[in-house]
Amino acid sequence: TLHQTNLTTAELRAIDAAHHLHPFTDTKGLNAEGARVIVKSKGVHLWDSEGNTIIDGMSGLWNVNVGYGREEIIDAVARQMRELPYYNTFFKTTHLPAIELARLLAEVTPPGFNRVFFTGSGSESNDTIIRMVRHYWAALDKPEKKIIVARHNGYHGSTMGGASLGGMKPMHAQGGLPIPGIVHIAQPYWYGEGGDQSPEAFGLWAARELERTLDEIGADKVAAFIGEPVQGAGGVVIPPATYWPEIQRICRERDILLISDEVICGFGRTGAWFGCQHFGYEPDIMAMAKGISSGYLPIGGVMVSDKVAEVIANAGDFNHGYTYSGHPAACAAAIANIRILLDEKIVDRVRDDIGPYMQKQWLALADHPMVGEARMVGLVGALELTPNKATRAAWPAEIGTVGTITRDISFRNGLVMRATRDVMIIAPPLVISHEEVDDLVRITRKTLDEAW
Ligand code: PLP
Repeated sequence: TLHQTNLTTAELRAIDAAHHLHPFTDTKGLNAEGARVIVKSKGVHLWDSEGNTIIDGMSGLWNVNVGYGREEIIDAVARQMRELPYYNTFFKTTHLPAIELARLLAEVTPPGFNRVFFTGSGSESNDTIIRMVRHYWAALDKPEKKIIVARHNGYHGSTMGGASLGGMKPMHAQGGLPIPGIVHIAQPYWYGEGGDQSPEAFGLWAARELERTLDEIGADKVAAFIGEPVQGAGGVVIPPATYWPEIQRICRERDILLISDEVICGFGRTGAWFGCQHFGYEPDIMAMAKGISSGYLPIGGVMVSDKVAEVIANAGDFNHGYTYSGHPAACAAAIANIRILLDEKIVDRVRDDIGPYMQKQWLALADHPMVGEARMVGLVGALELTPNKATRAAWPAEIGTVGTITRDISFRNGLVMRATRDVMIIAPPLVISHEEVDDLVRITRKTLDEAW
Protein backbone atom coordinates (compact mmCIF):
# COMPACT_ATOMS: atom_id res chain seq x y z
CA THR A 1 0.00 0.00 0.00
CA LEU A 2 1.02 3.64 -0.22
CA HIS A 3 1.74 3.54 3.51
CA GLN A 4 4.56 1.08 2.95
CA THR A 5 6.16 2.82 0.01
CA ASN A 6 8.36 5.84 0.05
CA LEU A 7 6.55 7.85 -2.57
CA THR A 8 7.29 11.55 -2.51
CA THR A 9 4.55 14.07 -1.95
CA ALA A 10 4.79 15.05 -5.60
CA GLU A 11 4.26 11.43 -6.66
CA LEU A 12 1.30 11.01 -4.30
CA ARG A 13 -0.26 14.21 -5.66
CA ALA A 14 0.20 13.03 -9.22
CA ILE A 15 -1.52 9.70 -8.54
CA ASP A 16 -4.33 11.49 -6.72
CA ALA A 17 -4.84 14.02 -9.51
CA ALA A 18 -4.84 11.24 -12.12
CA HIS A 19 -7.41 9.01 -10.44
CA HIS A 20 -9.47 10.91 -7.87
CA LEU A 21 -12.35 13.24 -8.62
CA HIS A 22 -12.62 15.49 -5.55
CA PRO A 23 -15.81 16.99 -4.11
CA PHE A 24 -16.12 20.80 -4.14
CA THR A 25 -12.69 21.22 -5.72
CA ASP A 26 -11.52 23.15 -8.78
CA THR A 27 -10.18 20.16 -10.72
CA LYS A 28 -8.14 22.25 -13.13
CA GLY A 29 -6.32 23.91 -10.22
CA LEU A 30 -5.84 20.52 -8.64
CA ASN A 31 -4.12 19.14 -11.72
CA ALA A 32 -1.63 21.99 -11.60
CA GLU A 33 -0.91 22.16 -7.86
CA GLY A 34 -2.06 18.82 -6.44
CA ALA A 35 -3.92 18.25 -3.19
CA ARG A 36 -2.53 18.51 0.33
CA VAL A 37 -1.86 15.02 1.62
CA ILE A 38 -2.92 14.64 5.26
CA VAL A 39 -1.33 11.63 6.90
CA LYS A 40 -1.74 11.80 10.68
CA SER A 41 -3.73 13.37 13.48
CA LYS A 42 -3.91 13.79 17.24
CA GLY A 43 -6.12 16.03 19.35
CA VAL A 44 -6.66 19.23 17.34
CA HIS A 45 -3.59 18.70 15.12
CA LEU A 46 -2.99 17.26 11.68
CA TRP A 47 0.27 16.40 9.96
CA ASP A 48 0.76 16.48 6.20
CA SER A 49 3.04 14.34 4.03
CA GLU A 50 5.74 17.01 4.19
CA GLY A 51 5.85 16.84 7.98
CA ASN A 52 4.08 20.15 8.66
CA THR A 53 2.00 20.41 11.86
CA ILE A 54 -1.36 22.07 11.27
CA ILE A 55 -4.07 23.15 13.73
CA ASP A 56 -7.38 21.86 12.39
CA GLY A 57 -9.45 24.99 12.88
CA MET A 58 -12.37 23.36 11.05
CA SER A 59 -12.63 20.02 12.94
CA GLY A 60 -12.39 18.25 9.59
CA LEU A 61 -15.68 19.41 8.07
CA TRP A 62 -17.17 20.75 11.32
CA ASN A 63 -17.48 17.22 12.63
CA VAL A 64 -14.50 16.03 14.69
CA ASN A 65 -15.98 17.48 17.88
CA VAL A 66 -14.04 15.29 20.35
CA GLY A 67 -10.76 15.64 18.46
CA TYR A 68 -8.55 13.05 16.78
CA GLY A 69 -7.04 9.90 18.21
CA ARG A 70 -9.73 8.98 20.77
CA GLU A 71 -8.85 5.41 21.70
CA GLU A 72 -12.30 4.81 23.28
CA ILE A 73 -13.96 5.23 19.88
CA ILE A 74 -11.33 3.24 18.02
CA ASP A 75 -11.62 0.34 20.50
CA ALA A 76 -15.42 0.38 20.44
CA VAL A 77 -15.43 0.20 16.65
CA ALA A 78 -12.85 -2.62 16.57
CA ARG A 79 -14.85 -4.63 19.12
CA GLN A 80 -18.06 -4.16 17.14
CA MET A 81 -16.34 -5.06 13.87
CA ARG A 82 -15.28 -8.42 15.35
CA GLU A 83 -18.71 -9.11 16.85
CA LEU A 84 -20.99 -8.02 14.02
CA PRO A 85 -19.42 -5.80 11.35
CA TYR A 86 -22.67 -5.42 9.47
CA TYR A 87 -26.28 -6.22 9.70
CA ASN A 88 -29.29 -4.25 8.56
CA THR A 89 -32.26 -2.77 10.40
CA PHE A 90 -34.83 -3.46 7.65
CA PHE A 91 -37.73 -5.93 7.79
CA LYS A 92 -38.14 -6.21 11.56
CA THR A 93 -34.50 -6.74 12.48
CA THR A 94 -32.28 -4.76 14.79
CA HIS A 95 -29.00 -5.17 16.66
CA LEU A 96 -27.40 -4.11 19.93
CA PRO A 97 -25.56 -0.95 18.82
CA ALA A 98 -28.66 0.41 17.05
CA ILE A 99 -30.78 -0.22 20.14
CA GLU A 100 -28.25 1.40 22.43
CA LEU A 101 -27.62 4.44 20.23
CA ALA A 102 -31.35 5.06 19.73
CA ARG A 103 -31.87 5.05 23.49
CA LEU A 104 -28.84 7.28 24.10
CA LEU A 105 -30.06 9.82 21.52
CA ALA A 106 -33.43 9.98 23.28
CA GLU A 107 -31.47 10.82 26.43
CA VAL A 108 -29.30 13.64 25.03
CA THR A 109 -31.85 15.30 22.73
CA PRO A 110 -34.41 17.80 24.08
CA PRO A 111 -37.51 16.53 25.93
CA GLY A 112 -40.16 15.08 23.63
CA PHE A 113 -37.62 13.56 21.22
CA ASN A 114 -37.64 9.80 21.60
CA ARG A 115 -37.28 8.21 18.18
CA VAL A 116 -34.61 8.22 15.52
CA PHE A 117 -34.43 7.12 11.88
CA PHE A 118 -30.81 6.24 11.08
CA THR A 119 -29.04 7.45 7.94
CA GLY A 120 -25.46 7.54 6.69
CA SER A 121 -24.96 11.32 6.42
CA GLY A 122 -26.49 14.76 6.72
CA SER A 123 -27.64 14.72 3.10
CA GLU A 124 -29.41 11.41 3.63
CA SER A 125 -31.00 12.78 6.79
CA ASN A 126 -32.47 15.72 4.87
CA ASP A 127 -33.60 13.54 1.97
CA THR A 128 -35.33 11.35 4.52
CA ILE A 129 -37.00 14.40 6.00
CA ILE A 130 -38.44 15.50 2.64
CA ARG A 131 -40.15 12.15 2.27
CA MET A 132 -41.04 11.87 5.95
CA VAL A 133 -42.87 15.18 6.27
CA ARG A 134 -44.92 14.45 3.14
CA HIS A 135 -45.67 10.96 4.47
CA TYR A 136 -46.69 12.58 7.79
CA TRP A 137 -49.22 14.96 6.23
CA ALA A 138 -50.58 12.26 3.91
CA ALA A 139 -51.18 10.07 6.97
CA LEU A 140 -53.18 12.95 8.46
CA ASP A 141 -55.31 13.13 5.30
CA LYS A 142 -53.64 16.32 4.12
CA PRO A 143 -51.62 15.01 1.16
CA GLU A 144 -51.70 18.45 -0.46
CA LYS A 145 -49.34 19.78 2.26
CA LYS A 146 -46.13 19.12 0.33
CA ILE A 147 -44.08 22.28 -0.12
CA ILE A 148 -41.03 22.83 2.06
CA VAL A 149 -39.84 26.36 2.75
CA ALA A 150 -36.07 26.81 3.13
CA ARG A 151 -33.65 29.75 2.92
CA HIS A 152 -31.39 31.33 0.34
CA ASN A 153 -27.75 30.49 1.12
CA GLY A 154 -28.75 27.61 3.39
CA TYR A 155 -26.85 24.32 3.14
CA HIS A 156 -28.57 20.99 3.63
CA GLY A 157 -26.34 18.60 1.70
CA SER A 158 -25.38 17.56 -1.77
CA THR A 159 -27.92 14.95 -2.87
CA MET A 160 -30.76 16.04 -5.17
CA GLY A 161 -32.99 16.60 -2.14
CA GLY A 162 -30.37 18.13 0.13
CA ALA A 163 -29.03 20.50 -2.52
CA SER A 164 -32.60 21.50 -3.41
CA LEU A 165 -33.41 22.38 0.19
CA GLY A 166 -30.15 24.28 0.23
CA GLY A 167 -30.15 27.73 -1.27
CA MET A 168 -26.74 27.64 -2.94
CA LYS A 169 -27.10 29.04 -6.45
CA PRO A 170 -23.92 27.46 -7.88
CA MET A 171 -25.19 24.07 -6.76
CA HIS A 172 -28.64 24.65 -8.26
CA ALA A 173 -27.02 25.68 -11.53
CA GLN A 174 -25.43 22.25 -11.95
CA GLY A 175 -28.06 19.58 -12.48
CA GLY A 176 -31.20 21.64 -12.81
CA LEU A 177 -32.15 22.09 -9.16
CA PRO A 178 -34.13 22.64 -7.06
CA ILE A 179 -36.54 19.73 -7.41
CA PRO A 180 -40.19 20.83 -7.43
CA GLY A 181 -41.94 21.70 -4.19
CA ILE A 182 -39.21 23.73 -2.50
CA VAL A 183 -39.43 27.49 -1.94
CA HIS A 184 -36.59 29.68 -0.66
CA ILE A 185 -36.98 32.81 1.45
CA ALA A 186 -34.56 35.42 2.86
CA GLN A 187 -31.80 34.41 5.27
CA PRO A 188 -31.28 36.22 8.59
CA TYR A 189 -27.92 37.64 7.45
CA TRP A 190 -27.82 40.98 9.21
CA TYR A 191 -24.24 42.01 8.33
CA GLY A 192 -24.79 41.48 4.62
CA GLU A 193 -28.49 42.17 4.14
CA GLY A 194 -29.76 44.04 7.20
CA GLY A 195 -29.42 47.51 5.67
CA ASP A 196 -29.99 50.16 8.33
CA GLN A 197 -32.31 48.01 10.46
CA SER A 198 -31.23 46.97 13.95
CA PRO A 199 -30.36 43.25 14.23
CA GLU A 200 -33.54 42.68 16.28
CA ALA A 201 -35.81 44.37 13.75
CA PHE A 202 -34.10 42.62 10.87
CA GLY A 203 -34.45 39.22 12.60
CA LEU A 204 -38.22 39.76 12.84
CA TRP A 205 -38.37 40.95 9.23
CA ALA A 206 -36.50 37.87 7.97
CA ALA A 207 -38.70 35.51 10.03
CA ARG A 208 -41.84 37.21 8.73
CA GLU A 209 -40.73 36.40 5.21
CA LEU A 210 -42.03 32.96 6.12
CA GLU A 211 -45.42 34.40 7.06
CA ARG A 212 -45.62 36.42 3.84
CA THR A 213 -44.70 33.32 1.82
CA LEU A 214 -47.37 31.26 3.56
CA ASP A 215 -49.93 33.97 2.79
CA GLU A 216 -48.92 33.80 -0.83
CA ILE A 217 -48.87 30.06 -1.43
CA GLY A 218 -51.31 28.98 1.28
CA ALA A 219 -50.25 27.14 4.43
CA ASP A 220 -52.56 24.31 3.36
CA LYS A 221 -49.98 23.49 0.67
CA VAL A 222 -46.94 23.72 2.94
CA ALA A 223 -45.52 20.79 4.89
CA ALA A 224 -42.62 22.35 6.74
CA PHE A 225 -39.98 24.99 7.20
CA ILE A 226 -36.32 23.96 7.44
CA GLY A 227 -33.31 25.94 8.63
CA GLU A 228 -29.90 25.58 10.21
CA PRO A 229 -29.77 27.18 13.69
CA VAL A 230 -26.58 28.89 12.44
CA GLN A 231 -26.00 28.71 8.68
CA GLY A 232 -22.61 27.03 8.54
CA ALA A 233 -21.44 26.63 4.97
CA GLY A 234 -23.23 29.87 4.05
CA GLY A 235 -20.71 31.77 6.17
CA VAL A 236 -21.61 31.17 9.84
CA VAL A 237 -24.71 33.36 9.68
CA ILE A 238 -25.73 33.76 13.32
CA PRO A 239 -29.34 34.96 13.39
CA PRO A 240 -30.47 37.83 15.61
CA ALA A 241 -32.09 36.62 18.85
CA THR A 242 -35.54 37.62 17.57
CA TYR A 243 -35.42 35.30 14.56
CA TRP A 244 -36.05 31.76 15.79
CA PRO A 245 -38.84 32.47 18.33
CA GLU A 246 -40.72 34.29 15.56
CA ILE A 247 -40.18 31.41 13.12
CA GLN A 248 -41.55 29.04 15.76
CA ARG A 249 -44.61 31.24 16.36
CA ILE A 250 -45.41 31.26 12.64
CA CYS A 251 -44.93 27.50 12.22
CA ARG A 252 -47.25 26.78 15.15
CA GLU A 253 -49.93 29.25 14.11
CA ARG A 254 -49.97 28.05 10.51
CA ASP A 255 -49.68 24.36 11.34
CA ILE A 256 -46.48 23.58 9.47
CA LEU A 257 -43.65 21.42 10.83
CA LEU A 258 -40.50 23.10 12.07
CA ILE A 259 -37.29 21.30 11.07
CA SER A 260 -33.95 22.14 12.62
CA ASP A 261 -30.95 21.03 10.58
CA GLU A 262 -28.57 20.25 13.44
CA VAL A 263 -25.91 18.62 11.27
CA ILE A 264 -23.31 21.22 12.30
CA CYS A 265 -24.85 22.70 15.45
CA GLY A 266 -25.80 19.38 17.08
CA PHE A 267 -23.61 17.70 19.68
CA GLY A 268 -22.22 20.76 21.37
CA ARG A 269 -21.01 23.17 18.69
CA THR A 270 -22.97 26.17 20.06
CA GLY A 271 -22.43 25.35 23.74
CA ALA A 272 -25.81 23.61 24.00
CA TRP A 273 -26.37 20.00 22.97
CA PHE A 274 -28.43 21.23 20.01
CA GLY A 275 -28.56 24.60 18.31
CA CYS A 276 -32.31 24.90 18.83
CA GLN A 277 -31.70 24.86 22.59
CA HIS A 278 -29.20 27.69 22.28
CA PHE A 279 -31.62 29.82 20.24
CA GLY A 280 -34.70 28.87 22.27
CA TYR A 281 -37.02 27.01 19.90
CA GLU A 282 -38.59 23.57 19.84
CA PRO A 283 -38.50 21.89 16.44
CA ASP A 284 -40.67 18.96 15.40
CA ILE A 285 -37.82 17.21 13.58
CA MET A 286 -34.03 17.43 13.73
CA ALA A 287 -31.50 16.38 11.08
CA MET A 288 -28.30 15.05 12.62
CA ALA A 289 -24.90 13.80 11.35
CA LYS A 290 -21.28 15.00 11.67
CA GLY A 291 -20.74 15.48 15.44
CA ILE A 292 -22.93 12.45 16.25
CA SER A 293 -19.81 10.29 15.67
CA SER A 294 -17.20 13.06 15.51
CA GLY A 295 -16.56 11.72 12.00
CA TYR A 296 -14.89 8.48 13.13
CA LEU A 297 -17.39 6.63 10.94
CA PRO A 298 -20.16 8.04 8.74
CA ILE A 299 -23.58 8.09 10.36
CA GLY A 300 -26.56 10.42 10.59
CA GLY A 301 -30.09 10.40 11.86
CA VAL A 302 -33.49 12.04 11.78
CA MET A 303 -34.74 12.64 15.29
CA VAL A 304 -38.50 13.03 15.49
CA SER A 305 -40.62 14.53 18.25
CA ASP A 306 -43.37 12.45 19.83
CA LYS A 307 -45.99 14.41 17.87
CA VAL A 308 -44.45 13.29 14.57
CA ALA A 309 -43.42 9.84 15.79
CA GLU A 310 -46.97 8.92 16.76
CA VAL A 311 -48.29 9.64 13.29
CA ILE A 312 -45.40 7.97 11.45
CA ALA A 313 -45.39 4.93 13.72
CA ASN A 314 -49.10 4.34 13.08
CA ALA A 315 -49.00 4.94 9.34
CA GLY A 316 -47.74 1.51 8.27
CA ASP A 317 -44.68 1.04 6.06
CA PHE A 318 -42.42 4.03 5.48
CA ASN A 319 -41.03 2.90 2.13
CA HIS A 320 -37.62 4.36 2.74
CA GLY A 321 -34.26 3.26 4.13
CA TYR A 322 -30.58 2.85 3.41
CA THR A 323 -28.44 -0.29 3.47
CA TYR A 324 -26.37 1.50 6.09
CA SER A 325 -29.27 2.82 8.22
CA GLY A 326 -27.96 1.97 11.68
CA HIS A 327 -24.65 0.46 10.55
CA PRO A 328 -23.39 -1.43 13.64
CA ALA A 329 -19.80 -0.17 13.63
CA ALA A 330 -20.93 3.41 12.93
CA CYS A 331 -23.44 3.14 15.79
CA ALA A 332 -20.63 1.90 18.05
CA ALA A 333 -18.53 4.93 17.08
CA ALA A 334 -21.45 7.28 17.81
CA ILE A 335 -22.14 5.67 21.19
CA ALA A 336 -18.50 5.96 22.27
CA ASN A 337 -18.37 9.55 20.99
CA ILE A 338 -21.52 10.61 22.87
CA ARG A 339 -20.20 8.95 26.03
CA ILE A 340 -17.04 11.08 25.74
CA LEU A 341 -19.17 14.22 25.32
CA LEU A 342 -21.13 13.24 28.45
CA ASP A 343 -18.26 11.95 30.62
CA GLU A 344 -15.97 14.90 29.93
CA LYS A 345 -18.85 17.43 30.14
CA ILE A 346 -17.62 18.84 26.84
CA VAL A 347 -20.80 20.71 26.00
CA ASP A 348 -20.79 22.57 29.35
CA ARG A 349 -17.12 23.36 28.76
CA VAL A 350 -17.97 24.99 25.43
CA ARG A 351 -20.74 27.03 27.04
CA ASP A 352 -18.93 28.12 30.22
CA ASP A 353 -15.20 27.94 29.63
CA ILE A 354 -13.48 27.44 26.29
CA GLY A 355 -16.31 29.03 24.26
CA PRO A 356 -16.25 32.38 26.10
CA TYR A 357 -12.42 32.22 26.21
CA MET A 358 -12.16 31.88 22.44
CA GLN A 359 -15.03 34.29 21.70
CA LYS A 360 -13.25 37.10 23.57
CA GLN A 361 -10.08 36.71 21.46
CA TRP A 362 -11.96 36.07 18.23
CA LEU A 363 -14.22 39.13 18.55
CA ALA A 364 -11.10 41.23 19.27
CA LEU A 365 -9.92 40.48 15.71
CA ALA A 366 -12.51 43.05 14.61
CA ASP A 367 -9.86 45.72 15.29
CA HIS A 368 -7.89 44.45 12.27
CA PRO A 369 -8.21 46.81 9.29
CA MET A 370 -9.37 43.92 7.08
CA VAL A 371 -12.17 42.69 9.36
CA GLY A 372 -15.66 44.16 8.88
CA GLU A 373 -17.24 41.92 11.50
CA ALA A 374 -16.07 39.13 13.81
CA ARG A 375 -18.78 36.84 15.12
CA MET A 376 -18.87 33.61 17.09
CA VAL A 377 -21.28 31.45 19.06
CA GLY A 378 -20.00 28.50 21.08
CA LEU A 379 -17.01 27.38 19.02
CA VAL A 380 -18.17 28.37 15.55
CA GLY A 381 -17.26 31.74 14.16
CA ALA A 382 -16.45 33.88 11.15
CA LEU A 383 -14.64 36.99 9.99
CA GLU A 384 -16.16 39.21 7.30
CA LEU A 385 -13.25 40.54 5.25
CA THR A 386 -13.58 43.88 3.51
CA PRO A 387 -11.32 46.58 2.09
CA ASN A 388 -13.63 49.20 3.64
CA LYS A 389 -15.19 48.70 7.05
CA ALA A 390 -17.50 51.69 6.70
CA THR A 391 -19.15 50.59 3.45
CA ARG A 392 -18.62 46.83 3.92
CA ALA A 393 -17.57 46.75 0.28
CA ALA A 394 -16.28 43.68 -1.53
CA TRP A 395 -12.91 43.61 -3.25
CA PRO A 396 -12.77 44.21 -7.01
CA ALA A 397 -13.23 40.94 -8.88
CA GLU A 398 -9.80 41.06 -10.57
CA ILE A 399 -8.10 40.40 -7.19
CA GLY A 400 -9.76 36.99 -7.04
CA THR A 401 -11.63 35.56 -4.07
CA VAL A 402 -9.94 37.11 -1.06
CA GLY A 403 -11.37 34.43 1.24
CA THR A 404 -9.63 31.73 -0.77
CA ILE A 405 -6.35 33.68 -0.88
CA THR A 406 -6.50 34.16 2.90
CA ARG A 407 -7.38 30.52 3.48
CA ASP A 408 -4.28 29.43 1.57
CA ILE A 409 -2.06 31.81 3.57
CA SER A 410 -3.59 30.45 6.76
CA PHE A 411 -2.80 26.89 5.72
CA ARG A 412 0.81 27.79 4.99
CA ASN A 413 0.93 29.30 8.48
CA GLY A 414 -0.26 26.02 10.02
CA LEU A 415 -4.00 26.57 10.47
CA VAL A 416 -6.94 25.13 8.54
CA MET A 417 -9.67 27.73 8.07
CA ARG A 418 -12.48 27.67 5.57
CA ALA A 419 -13.50 30.43 3.19
CA THR A 420 -16.79 31.20 1.54
CA ARG A 421 -16.75 34.34 -0.59
CA ASP A 422 -14.79 36.76 1.61
CA VAL A 423 -15.90 35.20 4.87
CA MET A 424 -13.33 33.23 6.87
CA ILE A 425 -14.76 30.44 8.99
CA ILE A 426 -13.49 28.75 12.13
CA ALA A 427 -14.91 25.76 14.03
CA PRO A 428 -12.19 23.98 16.03
CA PRO A 429 -12.64 20.70 17.89
CA LEU A 430 -14.60 21.24 21.11
CA VAL A 431 -11.68 19.80 23.11
CA ILE A 432 -9.27 22.56 22.06
CA SER A 433 -7.13 23.80 24.99
CA HIS A 434 -6.65 27.41 26.08
CA GLU A 435 -3.07 27.39 24.74
CA GLU A 436 -4.23 25.98 21.42
CA VAL A 437 -6.85 28.76 21.16
CA ASP A 438 -4.04 31.28 21.76
CA ASP A 439 -2.04 29.65 18.94
CA LEU A 440 -5.01 29.58 16.61
CA VAL A 441 -5.85 33.25 17.11
CA ARG A 442 -2.20 34.26 16.81
CA ILE A 443 -1.94 32.48 13.45
CA THR A 444 -5.22 34.05 12.32
CA ARG A 445 -3.90 37.54 13.05
CA LYS A 446 -0.60 36.79 11.33
CA THR A 447 -2.56 35.52 8.32
CA LEU A 448 -4.65 38.70 8.17
CA ASP A 449 -1.49 40.83 8.41
CA GLU A 450 0.04 38.93 5.50
CA ALA A 451 -3.13 39.07 3.40
CA TRP A 452 -3.79 42.81 4.01
N1 PLP B 1 -26.78 19.96 6.69
C1 PLP B 1 -25.87 20.85 7.12
C2 PLP B 1 -26.29 21.98 7.98
C3 PLP B 1 -24.53 20.70 6.75
O1 PLP B 1 -23.62 21.60 7.15
C4 PLP B 1 -24.16 19.60 5.96
C5 PLP B 1 -22.73 19.39 5.57
O2 PLP B 1 -21.90 20.27 5.70
C6 PLP B 1 -25.15 18.71 5.54
C7 PLP B 1 -26.44 18.92 5.93
C8 PLP B 1 -24.82 17.55 4.66
O3 PLP B 1 -24.17 16.57 5.39
P1 PLP B 1 -23.31 15.45 4.63
O4 PLP B 1 -22.16 16.15 3.98
O5 PLP B 1 -22.92 14.53 5.76
O6 PLP B 1 -24.19 14.78 3.66
